[in-house]
Amino acid sequence: MKIAIAGAGAMGCRFGVKLQTAGNDVTLIDNWADHVATINTTGLTVTTDEGPDQVTTMTAAAPQDVTDHFDLIILFTKAMQMDHMLTELGDVLSNQPVVLTLANGIGNIETIEKHVPKNRIVAGTTIWSSSLTGPGHITVTGTGSISLQAIVPAEFPDLPDVLNTLNHAGLNASVAEDVLAAIWKKAGLNSVLNTYCTLFDCNIGEFGALPNWRTLNDAVLDEFQAVADAAKINFDAQAVTNLIAAQFDPMTNGGHYPSMHQDMAKHRPTEVDFLNGYVAKLGAQLGVPAPINANLAQQIHAKESLRGI
Ligand code: NAD
Repeated sequence: MKIAIAGAGAMGCRFGVKLQTAGNDVTLIDNWADHVATINTTGLTVTTDEGPDQVTTMTAAAPQDVTDHFDLIILFTKAMQMDHMLTELGDVLSNQPVVLTLANGIGNIETIEKHVPKNRIVAGTTIWSSSLTGPGHITVTGTGSISLQAIVPAEFPDLPDVLNTLNHAGLNASVAEDVLAAIWKKAGLNSVLNTYCTLFDCNIGEFGALPNWRTLNDAVLDEFQAVADAAKINFDAQAVTNLIAAQFDPMTNGGHYPSMHQDMAKHRPTEVDFLNGYVAKLGAQLGVPAPINANLAQQIHAKESLRGI
Protein backbone atom coordinates (compact mmCIF):
# COMPACT_ATOMS: atom_id res chain seq x y z
CA MET A 1 0.00 0.00 0.00
CA LYS A 2 1.22 3.55 -0.70
CA ILE A 3 1.16 5.27 2.67
CA ALA A 4 1.99 8.77 3.93
CA ILE A 5 2.58 9.50 7.58
CA ALA A 6 1.57 13.14 7.98
CA GLY A 7 3.18 14.33 11.19
CA ALA A 8 6.17 12.04 11.49
CA GLY A 9 7.21 12.68 15.07
CA ALA A 10 7.74 10.00 17.70
CA MET A 11 4.67 7.93 16.84
CA GLY A 12 4.61 8.63 13.09
CA CYS A 13 8.21 7.43 12.77
CA ARG A 14 7.58 4.28 14.81
CA PHE A 15 4.57 3.40 12.64
CA GLY A 16 6.42 4.44 9.46
CA VAL A 17 9.35 2.09 10.08
CA LYS A 18 7.06 -0.84 10.86
CA LEU A 19 4.87 -0.24 7.80
CA GLN A 20 7.86 0.17 5.45
CA THR A 21 9.59 -2.91 6.86
CA ALA A 22 6.40 -4.87 6.09
CA GLY A 23 6.76 -3.93 2.41
CA ASN A 24 4.63 -0.80 2.07
CA ASP A 25 5.76 2.30 0.15
CA VAL A 26 6.00 4.88 2.95
CA THR A 27 6.64 8.64 2.85
CA LEU A 28 7.15 10.59 6.08
CA ILE A 29 5.66 14.10 5.82
CA ASP A 30 6.76 16.61 8.43
CA ASN A 31 7.27 20.32 9.02
CA TRP A 32 10.43 20.04 11.15
CA ALA A 33 13.10 20.83 8.54
CA ASP A 34 16.07 19.40 10.54
CA HIS A 35 14.17 16.16 11.15
CA VAL A 36 13.28 15.76 7.45
CA ALA A 37 16.86 16.57 6.36
CA THR A 38 18.40 14.12 8.86
CA ILE A 39 16.08 11.27 7.78
CA ASN A 40 16.88 11.89 4.10
CA THR A 41 20.65 12.07 4.61
CA THR A 42 21.42 9.56 7.35
CA GLY A 43 18.18 7.58 7.71
CA LEU A 44 15.86 7.18 10.70
CA THR A 45 17.59 5.90 13.83
CA VAL A 46 15.57 3.76 16.23
CA THR A 47 16.94 3.09 19.72
CA THR A 48 15.42 0.12 21.54
CA ASP A 49 16.29 -1.68 24.76
CA GLU A 50 16.84 -4.86 22.78
CA GLY A 51 20.20 -4.27 21.09
CA PRO A 52 22.10 -1.78 18.95
CA ASP A 53 20.41 1.16 17.24
CA GLN A 54 18.73 0.36 13.92
CA VAL A 55 19.01 2.80 11.04
CA THR A 56 16.33 2.60 8.32
CA THR A 57 16.58 4.39 4.99
CA MET A 58 13.33 6.32 4.56
CA THR A 59 11.91 9.11 2.43
CA ALA A 60 10.82 12.29 4.23
CA ALA A 61 9.45 15.55 2.87
CA ALA A 62 7.87 18.83 3.92
CA PRO A 63 4.11 18.90 3.16
CA GLN A 64 4.47 21.60 0.49
CA ASP A 65 6.98 19.43 -1.41
CA VAL A 66 4.71 16.37 -1.68
CA THR A 67 2.86 15.89 -4.96
CA ASP A 68 2.21 12.12 -4.84
CA HIS A 69 -1.15 10.59 -4.07
CA PHE A 70 -1.52 7.88 -1.41
CA ASP A 71 -3.94 5.06 -0.58
CA LEU A 72 -3.70 5.77 3.14
CA ILE A 73 -2.63 8.86 5.08
CA ILE A 74 -1.94 8.30 8.78
CA LEU A 75 -2.24 11.64 10.57
CA PHE A 76 0.09 11.65 13.56
CA THR A 77 0.53 15.35 14.28
CA LYS A 78 -0.38 16.64 17.72
CA ALA A 79 -4.09 17.53 17.83
CA MET A 80 -3.45 21.28 17.52
CA GLN A 81 -1.22 20.81 14.42
CA MET A 82 -3.77 18.72 12.50
CA ASP A 83 -5.79 21.47 10.79
CA HIS A 84 -2.61 23.17 9.51
CA MET A 85 -1.16 19.88 8.24
CA LEU A 86 -4.38 19.02 6.36
CA THR A 87 -4.48 22.51 4.83
CA GLU A 88 -0.86 22.14 3.71
CA LEU A 89 -1.56 18.71 2.16
CA GLY A 90 -4.12 20.36 -0.17
CA ASP A 91 -3.99 18.52 -3.50
CA VAL A 92 -2.47 15.41 -1.88
CA LEU A 93 -5.99 14.75 -0.54
CA SER A 94 -7.69 15.15 -3.92
CA ASN A 95 -7.72 11.42 -4.78
CA GLN A 96 -9.73 10.83 -1.59
CA PRO A 97 -7.27 8.61 0.31
CA VAL A 98 -8.30 6.91 3.54
CA VAL A 99 -7.29 9.23 6.40
CA LEU A 100 -6.60 7.52 9.71
CA THR A 101 -5.88 9.30 12.96
CA LEU A 102 -4.86 7.76 16.26
CA ALA A 103 -3.80 11.07 17.83
CA ASN A 104 -4.89 11.79 21.38
CA GLY A 105 -7.54 14.34 22.26
CA ILE A 106 -11.20 14.96 21.45
CA GLY A 107 -12.26 16.92 18.37
CA ASN A 108 -9.81 15.48 15.85
CA ILE A 109 -12.60 13.94 13.78
CA GLU A 110 -14.27 17.36 13.45
CA THR A 111 -10.96 18.83 12.30
CA ILE A 112 -10.46 16.13 9.66
CA GLU A 113 -14.06 16.47 8.44
CA LYS A 114 -13.25 20.03 7.33
CA HIS A 115 -10.82 18.56 4.74
CA VAL A 116 -11.85 14.95 4.06
CA PRO A 117 -15.24 13.33 3.23
CA LYS A 118 -16.68 11.58 6.30
CA ASN A 119 -16.72 8.22 4.54
CA ARG A 120 -12.93 8.26 4.06
CA ILE A 121 -12.10 8.87 7.76
CA VAL A 122 -11.00 6.21 10.24
CA ALA A 123 -10.29 7.16 13.85
CA GLY A 124 -9.08 5.33 16.88
CA THR A 125 -6.74 5.08 19.81
CA THR A 126 -3.44 3.33 20.34
CA ILE A 127 -1.36 2.17 23.25
CA TRP A 128 1.84 1.99 21.20
CA SER A 129 4.33 4.57 22.48
CA SER A 130 7.50 6.30 21.31
CA SER A 131 9.77 9.27 22.12
CA LEU A 132 11.37 11.68 19.68
CA THR A 133 14.94 11.79 20.96
CA GLY A 134 16.16 14.34 18.38
CA PRO A 135 15.96 15.02 14.65
CA GLY A 136 15.84 11.69 12.80
CA HIS A 137 15.97 9.69 16.04
CA ILE A 138 13.27 7.90 18.07
CA THR A 139 13.48 5.73 21.19
CA VAL A 140 10.91 2.97 21.57
CA THR A 141 10.05 0.31 24.14
CA GLY A 142 7.44 -2.39 24.45
CA THR A 143 4.61 -3.26 22.12
CA GLY A 144 1.07 -1.95 21.71
CA SER A 145 -2.22 -2.21 19.90
CA ILE A 146 -4.70 -0.12 17.93
CA SER A 147 -8.46 0.10 18.24
CA LEU A 148 -10.15 1.85 15.32
CA GLN A 149 -13.44 2.38 13.53
CA ALA A 150 -14.61 4.01 10.30
CA ILE A 151 -16.63 7.15 11.04
CA VAL A 152 -19.36 5.91 8.70
CA PRO A 153 -18.91 2.13 8.98
CA ALA A 154 -21.71 1.34 6.51
CA GLU A 155 -19.97 3.35 3.78
CA PHE A 156 -16.45 2.05 4.32
CA PRO A 157 -15.76 -1.17 2.40
CA ASP A 158 -11.95 -0.69 2.60
CA LEU A 159 -11.64 -1.27 6.36
CA PRO A 160 -10.38 -4.88 6.03
CA ASP A 161 -7.57 -3.61 3.72
CA VAL A 162 -6.53 -1.01 6.31
CA LEU A 163 -6.66 -3.59 9.10
CA ASN A 164 -4.66 -6.14 7.08
CA THR A 165 -2.00 -3.57 6.26
CA LEU A 166 -1.62 -2.52 9.91
CA ASN A 167 -1.65 -6.10 11.18
CA HIS A 168 0.79 -7.33 8.53
CA ALA A 169 3.16 -4.69 9.98
CA GLY A 170 2.63 -6.14 13.48
CA LEU A 171 0.65 -3.15 14.76
CA ASN A 172 -2.12 -5.29 16.38
CA ALA A 173 -5.17 -3.43 15.05
CA SER A 174 -8.77 -4.37 15.76
CA VAL A 175 -12.15 -2.76 15.18
CA ALA A 176 -13.73 -0.82 18.05
CA GLU A 177 -17.46 -1.06 18.62
CA ASP A 178 -17.74 2.57 19.71
CA VAL A 179 -14.69 4.58 18.79
CA LEU A 180 -16.00 7.85 20.28
CA ALA A 181 -16.37 6.11 23.64
CA ALA A 182 -12.77 4.85 23.35
CA ILE A 183 -11.51 8.35 22.45
CA TRP A 184 -13.37 9.94 25.39
CA LYS A 185 -12.11 7.25 27.77
CA LYS A 186 -8.50 7.92 26.81
CA ALA A 187 -9.11 11.69 26.91
CA GLY A 188 -10.59 11.35 30.42
CA LEU A 189 -7.49 9.50 31.59
CA ASN A 190 -5.18 12.04 29.93
CA SER A 191 -7.17 14.99 31.32
CA VAL A 192 -6.43 13.71 34.82
CA LEU A 193 -2.94 12.25 34.58
CA ASN A 194 -1.36 14.51 31.94
CA THR A 195 -2.79 17.69 33.37
CA TYR A 196 -2.14 17.14 37.09
CA CYS A 197 1.32 15.56 36.59
CA THR A 198 2.28 18.57 34.46
CA LEU A 199 0.95 21.10 36.98
CA PHE A 200 2.47 19.31 40.00
CA ASP A 201 5.68 18.31 38.16
CA CYS A 202 5.31 14.70 39.29
CA ASN A 203 5.15 11.24 37.74
CA ILE A 204 2.04 9.05 37.65
CA GLY A 205 3.01 7.09 40.78
CA GLU A 206 3.60 10.28 42.75
CA PHE A 207 0.17 11.59 41.69
CA GLY A 208 -1.40 8.30 42.80
CA ALA A 209 0.29 8.58 46.20
CA LEU A 210 -1.35 11.96 46.91
CA PRO A 211 -3.91 11.58 49.74
CA ASN A 212 -6.42 13.64 47.73
CA TRP A 213 -5.82 12.16 44.25
CA ARG A 214 -9.38 10.85 44.18
CA THR A 215 -10.89 14.29 44.90
CA LEU A 216 -8.77 15.83 42.14
CA ASN A 217 -9.70 12.99 39.77
CA ASP A 218 -13.43 13.19 40.46
CA ALA A 219 -13.50 16.95 39.95
CA VAL A 220 -12.35 16.43 36.34
CA LEU A 221 -14.28 13.26 35.53
CA ASP A 222 -17.62 14.31 37.05
CA GLU A 223 -17.65 17.19 34.56
CA PHE A 224 -16.60 14.82 31.75
CA GLN A 225 -19.54 12.61 32.68
CA ALA A 226 -22.05 15.48 32.63
CA VAL A 227 -20.81 16.82 29.27
CA ALA A 228 -20.62 13.34 27.71
CA ASP A 229 -24.17 12.59 28.88
CA ALA A 230 -25.41 15.83 27.32
CA ALA A 231 -23.54 15.04 24.08
CA LYS A 232 -24.92 11.45 24.10
CA ILE A 233 -21.43 9.91 24.22
CA ASN A 234 -20.89 6.70 26.18
CA PHE A 235 -18.66 7.60 29.09
CA ASP A 236 -18.17 5.84 32.41
CA ALA A 237 -16.27 8.00 34.92
CA GLN A 238 -15.87 5.04 37.30
CA ALA A 239 -14.30 2.88 34.57
CA VAL A 240 -11.86 5.70 33.72
CA THR A 241 -11.03 6.12 37.42
CA ASN A 242 -10.29 2.39 37.66
CA LEU A 243 -8.05 2.63 34.61
CA ILE A 244 -6.23 5.60 36.13
CA ALA A 245 -5.70 3.77 39.44
CA ALA A 246 -4.26 0.82 37.51
CA GLN A 247 -1.46 3.08 36.19
CA PHE A 248 -0.05 3.98 39.64
CA ASP A 249 1.87 0.75 40.17
CA PRO A 250 5.59 1.20 39.37
CA MET A 251 5.34 -2.11 37.45
CA THR A 252 2.84 -0.53 35.02
CA ASN A 253 3.25 3.23 34.48
CA GLY A 254 3.96 4.62 37.96
CA GLY A 255 7.45 5.86 37.08
CA HIS A 256 6.30 7.41 33.79
CA TYR A 257 5.94 11.16 33.16
CA PRO A 258 2.93 11.70 30.84
CA SER A 259 3.42 13.21 27.39
CA MET A 260 2.09 16.65 28.43
CA HIS A 261 4.76 16.78 31.14
CA GLN A 262 7.36 15.88 28.51
CA ASP A 263 6.02 18.53 26.08
CA MET A 264 6.21 21.20 28.81
CA ALA A 265 9.77 20.13 29.72
CA LYS A 266 10.76 20.42 26.04
CA HIS A 267 9.06 23.85 25.77
CA ARG A 268 6.58 22.45 23.23
CA PRO A 269 2.84 23.36 23.17
CA THR A 270 0.54 20.90 24.96
CA GLU A 271 -2.70 19.25 23.75
CA VAL A 272 -4.72 20.60 26.71
CA ASP A 273 -7.25 22.41 24.47
CA PHE A 274 -8.21 18.97 23.09
CA LEU A 275 -8.52 17.44 26.58
CA ASN A 276 -9.81 19.50 29.55
CA GLY A 277 -10.21 22.54 27.28
CA TYR A 278 -12.36 20.66 24.77
CA VAL A 279 -14.76 19.41 27.44
CA ALA A 280 -15.06 22.94 28.86
CA LYS A 281 -15.82 24.33 25.39
CA LEU A 282 -18.32 21.61 24.48
CA GLY A 283 -19.95 21.94 27.92
CA ALA A 284 -20.41 25.69 27.36
CA GLN A 285 -22.06 24.99 23.98
CA LEU A 286 -24.41 22.42 25.54
CA GLY A 287 -25.27 24.48 28.62
CA VAL A 288 -23.37 22.10 30.92
CA PRO A 289 -20.73 24.15 32.74
CA ALA A 290 -17.32 22.51 33.25
CA PRO A 291 -15.48 25.22 35.23
CA ILE A 292 -12.85 22.95 36.74
CA ASN A 293 -11.74 21.66 33.35
CA ALA A 294 -11.82 25.22 31.98
CA ASN A 295 -9.64 26.40 34.86
CA LEU A 296 -7.17 23.50 34.53
CA ALA A 297 -6.76 24.29 30.82
CA GLN A 298 -6.04 27.92 31.76
CA GLN A 299 -3.48 26.81 34.37
CA ILE A 300 -1.66 24.74 31.75
CA HIS A 301 -1.71 27.71 29.37
CA ALA A 302 -0.29 29.91 32.15
CA LYS A 303 2.51 27.39 32.68
CA GLU A 304 3.15 27.33 28.91
CA SER A 305 3.43 31.13 28.94
CA LEU A 306 5.88 31.02 31.85
CA ARG A 307 7.99 28.59 29.78
CA GLY A 308 7.87 30.99 26.82
CA ILE A 309 5.73 28.57 24.75
P1 NAD B 1 5.65 14.45 18.54
O1 NAD B 1 5.73 15.66 19.41
O2 NAD B 1 6.79 13.49 18.62
O3 NAD B 1 5.50 14.90 17.04
C1 NAD B 1 4.40 15.67 16.62
C2 NAD B 1 4.89 16.71 15.62
O4 NAD B 1 5.67 17.69 16.32
C3 NAD B 1 5.76 16.14 14.52
O5 NAD B 1 5.43 16.78 13.31
C4 NAD B 1 7.15 16.51 14.97
O6 NAD B 1 8.10 16.62 13.93
C5 NAD B 1 6.91 17.85 15.65
N1 NAD B 1 7.99 18.15 16.60
C6 NAD B 1 8.29 17.45 17.71
N2 NAD B 1 9.38 18.01 18.32
C7 NAD B 1 9.74 19.05 17.55
C8 NAD B 1 10.80 20.02 17.64
N3 NAD B 1 11.68 20.01 18.66
N4 NAD B 1 10.87 20.96 16.69
C9 NAD B 1 9.99 20.99 15.66
N5 NAD B 1 8.97 20.10 15.52
C10 NAD B 1 8.86 19.15 16.45
O7 NAD B 1 4.25 13.76 18.83
P2 NAD B 1 3.92 12.21 19.09
O8 NAD B 1 4.42 11.84 20.44
O9 NAD B 1 4.33 11.42 17.90
O10 NAD B 1 2.34 12.28 19.20
C11 NAD B 1 1.47 12.32 18.07
C12 NAD B 1 0.05 12.07 18.57
O11 NAD B 1 -0.01 10.73 19.11
C13 NAD B 1 -0.38 12.99 19.72
O12 NAD B 1 -1.75 13.22 19.65
C14 NAD B 1 -0.06 12.18 20.97
O13 NAD B 1 -0.82 12.57 22.09
C15 NAD B 1 -0.45 10.79 20.47
N6 NAD B 1 0.18 9.68 21.17
C16 NAD B 1 1.51 9.71 21.48
C17 NAD B 1 2.09 8.62 22.13
C18 NAD B 1 3.57 8.58 22.43
O14 NAD B 1 4.02 7.65 23.12
N7 NAD B 1 4.38 9.49 21.93
C19 NAD B 1 1.30 7.50 22.46
C20 NAD B 1 -0.06 7.50 22.09
C21 NAD B 1 -0.60 8.59 21.44
